Amino acid sequence: MTLPLGISFQGAARTVTGSRHLVRFGPRSWLFDCGIYQGHREEADRVNRAFAFAPAELEAVVLSHAHLDHSGNLPTLVRQGFPGAIHLTPATADLARPLLADSAFLMERDLEHVNRRGQAKKQPPRKPLYRPADVLPTLERFETHGYREPWPLAEGVEVEFWDAGHILGSAVTTFEFRSGGRTLRLGMTGDLGRYRRPILRDPDVPAGVDVLVLESTYGDRLHPPEEETVRELQETVTRTLGRGGRLIVPSFAVGRTQELVATLHDLIERRAIPDVPIFVDSPLARVATGVYRQHPECFDAETHDAFVNHGGAPFGFARLRYVSSAEESKALNEREEPCIIIAGSGMCEGGRVLHHLRYGLGEPRNTVLFVGYQAEGTLGRRLRDGAEVVNIFGEPARRLCEVAALDGFSAHADQAEILDWVGRLDPAPRRIFLVHGEVGPAETLAGLLRERVGAEVTIPAPGEEAALWS
Ligand SMILES: [Zn+2]
Repeated sequence: MTLPLGISFQGAARTVTGSRHLVRFGPRSWLFDCGIYQGHREEADRVNRAFAFAPAELEAVVLSHAHLDHSGNLPTLVRQGFPGAIHLTPATADLARPLLADSAFLMERDLEHVNRRGQAKKQPPRKPLYRPADVLPTLERFETHGYREPWPLAEGVEVEFWDAGHILGSAVTTFEFRSGGRTLRLGMTGDLGRYRRPILRDPDVPAGVDVLVLESTYGDRLHPPEEETVRELQETVTRTLGRGGRLIVPSFAVGRTQELVATLHDLIERRAIPDVPIFVDSPLARVATGVYRQHPECFDAETHDAFVNHGGAPFGFARLRYVSSAEESKALNEREEPCIIIAGSGMCEGGRVLHHLRYGLGEPRNTVLFVGYQAEGTLGRRLRDGAEVVNIFGEPARRLCEVAALDGFSAHADQAEILDWVGRLDPAPRRIFLVHGEVGPAETLAGLLRERVGAEVTIPAPGEEAALWS
């Protein structure tokens, strides 16, 4: 008898946030990713607290990578009685520890503000999704597995991680199910990375996937060529430093900061930009950069060679000056010499970058450089859209500095890169489910995949279930 096998898409279905997919095999079930849903406060709170299954009955979680939209709701799951292990790569484990701790800390602090405001309006206090104390029991569940080292998840189920090339430790995962003399291989991309990027290896191609769950964030878009992005970065840095200004880069702590630093380091080595100090003013980015250093096994050949054989700091991490205390951070603003400051948060919604913006926006010599996506409604988006007056810490600030943006630093494969990667799967998957994308990009990609791969392509609705044996 063949056990029933199915998947239900409980998050990141027709959207890019809150990745969560439930795999059922006979009486057992596992969750693939348990990301936090980011959106308007009330809706997000509801989505994040409510699981459409009993966490106590779940056997295990398999995690694709450490980004919070894939890992950030794990403490809620543990709080609600999930008893099992969380399987992940060693580098993902090391990145997830500080990220989850930071997430719990920010949630608590954010809620203090909300409750203080609510108190004035006599509203009942809200409770955080989870607290810092919930993070430790979550971390204790971690069980690590290297790339290309298959392990048995349960009887008749074998799992394997493959390089995804997205951030340190990120994995494409395959599940091989065996029942009643039949075999099915299910591939889950998590977030698919890119080819020829600094530091990490290119996305790996797993063998023989029958059914593929594929991300589609940039299913309708192409990233600018790398040379163009590097040239624009070089020009922006040169222009800013040339007029004696500072470059302020709001940046995400994990992935983006390390790639940007590697690229700046390379430009300095080639004498394409002046050798000025690079300050990293983000405690989380400092920790994350440390984790990158601890995992040379994830590096591409070039970075690995430079790291292991040539002095240990090839991608510019030795060049960085870390800013520890808030006092040091403020003192940075007294500096007269040109410099580069990388600070969180990436969309300017909080963090130390706000101090640098408050001080730096009014100086025409400076540049604020965006290297990541700026969501609607954020301060980063308003600045990127050219606002001349913005509110910082509740006070209006006039912008006289330059604002620039580079789109080429994305850690997600674009349309061509997704098609290229799927095209390398041999044999081609017969069925593809598109997740982690808005409907528009997913539909464009679905059309191209039907045409080129000949697979049956579905864009599942939230909560939709599918049986997997054909
Ligand atoms: Zn990601």
